[in-house]
Amino acid sequence: MPERIPFALPDITDAEVDAVTAVLRSRWLTSGAECQAFEREFAAAIGAEHALALNSCTAALHLSLEALGVGRGDLVFVPTYTFAASAEVVRYVGARPILVDVDPVTHNLDPDALRLAIEVSRHLGVAKAVIPVHFAGVACELDSLWEIAREFDLAVVEDAAHAFPASYAGAPIGTIPPDIRGTSCFSFYATKTITTGEGGMVTTNDPILAGRMRVMSLHGLSRQAWNRYSGGTWKYDIVAPGFKYNLTDLAAAMGRTQLGRALEMRDRRREIAERYTAAFSDLTSLETPVVPDNRVSAWHLYVLRLAAGASEAKRDQAIDMLSAAGIGTSMHFIPLHLHSYYRTTYGYTPQDLPVALDLYQRSLSLPGYSSMSDEEVERVIEAVRDMNDVLEP
Ligand SMILES: *Cc1c(COP(=O)(O)O)cnc(C)c1O
Repeated sequence: MPERIPFALPDITDAEVDAVTAVLRSRWLTSGAECQAFEREFAAAIGAEHALALNSCTAALHLSLEALGVGRGDLVFVPTYTFAASAEVVRYVGARPILVDVDPVTHNLDPDALRLAIEVSRHLGVAKAVIPVHFAGVACELDSLWEIAREFDLAVVEDAAHAFPASYAGAPIGTIPPDIRGTSCFSFYATKTITTGEGGMVTTNDPILAGRMRVMSLHGLSRQAWNRYSGGTWKYDIVAPGFKYNLTDLAAAMGRTQLGRALEMRDRRREIAERYTAAFSDLTSLETPVVPDNRVSAWHLYVLRLAAGASEAKRDQAIDMLSAAGIGTSMHFIPLHLHSYYRTTYGYTPQDLPVALDLYQRSLSLPGYSSMSDEEVERVIEAVRDMNDVLEP
């Protein structure tokens, strides 16, 4: 029996090991020169004015809403097809998440559904912000989204946890048009496209948002206090009750190395995805992922769908068959409105957001990380093709 192929595996080379080791030897472990350099280099990579390194993407989302002044009585629109973090941060600031259905091709926030959700939720509070998620690394329909943000005066907090490096109409994800208030939030969790073990980054072109997030990310200490990391003063002032969200230099050093390899790793993931799609093109029981023409995907996930009409039981059977063949898979995501917290707190039922429900019942994610060998890719292909024979109606 050949070795099991895990669903995800970080792509770590000697360069990352050396970078982290050098920080250990320096004895400066927490936020310092490595974090500053990581922020500078990340901002430059996407063309953003400001970048703040944090210990998670969840922290980035939370700080964004706080800095935007979202709070009690406010509504924040979130696609239901996402991870827990995208909506829990709305609760952190006391606002109400309004879950929105998604596009049947990209699994991303559907602009028409967003418009409708804004209209029908007027009696529940003030529409303040939207958190689009660029699912699997494919950008949302951003032109429509910017239009809606302008029309309803919504701030935009991009959940870009899957979307580095990715672009929409030639513009890298992580920059928002200058007339819209907003931020972009990235994740460096162990399974993401670049990793620091745990970590995140928030970018913005708005200096006021950037300043507020920096202060709130470290206990609400005044700006001068931050400078103590670069040899400033012992004096500090607490200007607000902040949080403890800073990144370590150990993590930042690893992040800088990963950042330098980001395009090369994406190219490999794209190569694997193209190989899969070509190999599955004749399988009638399956649908392969589509990247719209004006977008470059980060290829964070390769999400396969059983053909329309397939039951959830068949999808579960597919996962079991791949597992029996030694292939690790995953499922992204169980829509938020199916979870007990959202059902009991806000009264959602599964059919309230029917597109997401259908996509969830038919989807599974295949391994597609950059360190996979060609031989492993071929083993996945073979297992999926074998499975097709069983799934065929
Ligand atoms: C991973 C993920 C997050 C959270 O990232 P952390 O860095 O673990 O906080 C947020 N949103 C989505 C869509 C994710 O997949």
